[in-house]
This record gives sequence, structure tokens and C-alpha cells, in this order.
Amino acid sequence: MSGNVMHDSPTEFLHDVASEDGRCVAQSVIPVGDGGYRCACSCGRWDIIAPGRAEGLRLARVHTGTEV
Ligand SMILES: [Zn+2]
Repeated sequence: MSGNVMHDSPTEFLHDVASEDGRCVAQSVIPVGDGGYRCACSCGRWDIIAPGRAEGLRLARVHTGTEV
């Protein structure tokens, strides 16, 4: 036991807000292994493939209307 814990699971974002279905409370950006990133929102109405992680995060902000 080294104490080092692998914690790289973006899918937990959605698990944490399962009870908030239908609302834009959390977005996930998950690599799909093809150079793209699948971006989804807890509202269930937003699900896209972005060309990169940064772009996915930007689009997530646009979706939720919190882009600065
Ligand atoms: Zn949403």
C-alpha cells in the first residue's frame, strides 16, 4: 500500500448529481480514445464530441451560460 490513489474518473461527476437529473448542475468531459472528448451534461440534453479537452470544457461553459 503506497497510499497513492488513482483518481481520474470524470464519470463520477455525473454519479454525484444523479438526483439532479434534468438540470445543468454538472458537466463531464471524458476521453473517448479517438483524440476526441465526449461531453455530457447532467440535464441529459447536451451530449457532444469535442476535438479536445479544453474545447470541451469551453463548450460546457457555453452550454450552461457561464462562459466569461
Ligand atoms: Zn445541461
